Amino acid sequence: MGLFGGLDPVQRAIEALRAELAGGGAAHLSPEVQELANLVTQRAERHSQARTAHDNLQTMLDAVPDAAGIFDGSGRLQMANRAFLELRGGGRAFGHTALEATRSAELAEVVAQALAGKASQLELTLPAVGRTVRAYLSPLGQGEALMLLRDLTEAKRLEVARRDFVANASHELRTPVSAIVAALETLEVAAPSLPEAAQPFIDIIARHAERLRRLTDVMLDLSRLESGEWRLKLSSIELRSFCAQAVELVRERAEGKRIVLTSDVPEGLHAVADRRALEQVLVNLLDNAIKYTPLNGVVALSAAPVGLQVEIAVKDSGSGIEPRHLARLFERFYRADPGRAREEGGTGLGLAIVKHLVSAQHGEVSVESGAQGSRFWVRLPAR
Ligand code: ADP
Repeated sequence: MGLFGGLDPVQRAIEALRAELAGGGAAHLSPEVQELANLVTQRAERHSQARTAHDNLQTMLDAVPDAAGIFDGSGRLQMANRAFLELRGGGRAFGHTALEATRSAELAEVVAQALAGKASQLELTLPAVGRTVRAYLSPLGQGEALMLLRDLTEAKRLEVARRDFVANASHELRTPVSAIVAALETLEVAAPSLPEAAQPFIDIIARHAERLRRLTDVMLDLSRLESGEWRLKLSSIELRSFCAQAVELVRERAEGKRIVLTSDVPEGLHAVADRRALEQVLVNLLDNAIKYTPLNGVVALSAAPVGLQVEIAVKDSGSGIEPRHLARLFERFYRADPGRAREEGGTGLGLAIVKHLVSAQHGEVSVESGAQGSRFWVRLPAR
């Protein structure tokens, strides 16, 4: 008789088990009933394992500091941690699509891509709550996708506060610095009638006032760039004559140190850039090369096509920069040799502004340096 052919064996087994549990002898179970019991036990174990896996995953999600949610193969939110539910600002969540759960078409799009196996990240403002986040999407096994949302709102606010502070401080410093420079000019005119001992002090004031003026100018430039107030106008620039002009701007300083200054650019080479920004980049790099190259050295400006870009390089015969400094050289106020750099009257902001200007022109900048000297290069899109 098959297992479900009649209820008798089952009913008999139930009675026998009740009797055993009530303190009677061991129940004898027919093979069919024993098989049924095994299957029921197996199913219960499987459910409990799935529950444990689900609980473990939930525990892990809850331990992640960012907002995290998992979307199933059909693009519906399957699991999420508390940070995720809070960041969304309420509304429908589990079982709903990415668009319903986040109210962002951009996020819905990247979830679809992650479900198709493509990882991605993007920065966006969540429409429902107005918070700025960076979203990281990763495909998981079993056709699911993980979404991590890192809340950048506070970091952005601090960044704006820092930018405003730099802009305000440099702006406020300009007036007193101009007043000092003006008073100094008067003093210099009156110098012959002043005691001779005054002259060294006038020189010190002149040197430092000039440095302060440069510092405030560069800080203002940087904050204009960061705030987008300094808008770049990109156009195709013929580099041969442009580089020759840039070299002329620093010629006098090079001659002061008897440095040989050359410009070697093939005719007809173009780069897409902003004239004023590119000029500032080249002058800053040439100025540094002259500053950090000893008397009778060589500073060479050159340009050449590299793939779809143009590389403009400034090479000097200075003493080079130790490798440990290279990674940080383009940070604000970073100096490889602080004593030397201050003596040279530098602001410590020259390379920071170069980096900003170059990336605003969709280019890259880097440096190679060794015992023979340094080579700073800028790559910009070719025509
Ligand atoms: P600074 O005004 O101090 O020159 P920069 O931002 O222009 O500031 O440069 C940062 C630091 O990088 C400098 O202080 C100097 O130590 C180093 N540096 C820049 N250019 C050169 C170079 N051509 N040769 C050697 N060191 C350099």
